[in-house]
Amino acid sequence: MRIAIISDVHANLEALQSVLEEIKKEMPDEIWFLGDAVGYGPNPNECIDIIKKEAQILIAGNHDWGVAGLANIEHFNPYAREAAEWTIDNLTDENNALLRSLPLFDRPKLNNIFLVHSSPKEPEKWHYIINTWDAYINFQFFAERKCIIGHSHYPFAAELDESGRVNLYKETAEFKTGCRYIINAGSVGQPRDGNPKASYAVLTKNSVEIRRVSYDIVSTQKKMKEAGLSRYLIERLDRGR
Ligand code: ZN
Repeated sequence: MRIAIISDVHANLEALQSVLEEIKKEMPDEIWFLGDAVGYGPNPNECIDIIKKEAQILIAGNHDWGVAGLANIEHFNPYAREAAEWTIDNLTDENNALLRSLPLFDRPKLNNIFLVHSSPKEPEKWHYIINTWDAYINFQFFAERKCIIGHSHYPFAAELDESGRVNLYKETAEFKTGCRYIINAGSVGQPRDGNPKASYAVLTKNSVEIRRVSYDIVSTQKKMKEAGLSRYLIERLDRGR
């Protein structure tokens, strides 16, 4: 089993294309998408078209549901709300319908894995899992051995060991007998961990690895500028914050 996991693409076509190029070199059995195809970036339709063609599993992010009218964008920060409004104006009806059809979570058969964009505790409330305590609490809210998430744009693997301790891994985690895992694949289109390279994860039976890929940030930024998207959103791509 070799699964490539992508999340938080946020309408960044150059990042998505660069990540898929890398992914295809290793010929994974499947590609799973963990939500937020849209929001922030200039190519929502192009990104949705690619994701629906390439991914075998798709679930919803808060931006997807926000744009589709299923989550309240009034609670978004001003930059996210402005980008969501721009996306609503620029999305095709077909792609809007696709976003509306995405489920909040999934349990791929045979894999003993729970997939959710934000948190297993309350998927529809879009909580963030950002520290070991958040992870510890959330281990109680899924029965499977592993849970894979996105949402915070910080890649990590949290391991709950037999003594009840949570250990954090930033790049690679080898799965150990008796341990359970919450894995964040990071963000393809808007990394926020200080590394501007696109992030995705490769999951096998025995391990998960976070991979980083550089992409043509300048082209994305140029298109964002032409679309009239905010300067803050444009500049944060350089910093990966
Ligand atoms: Zn996101």
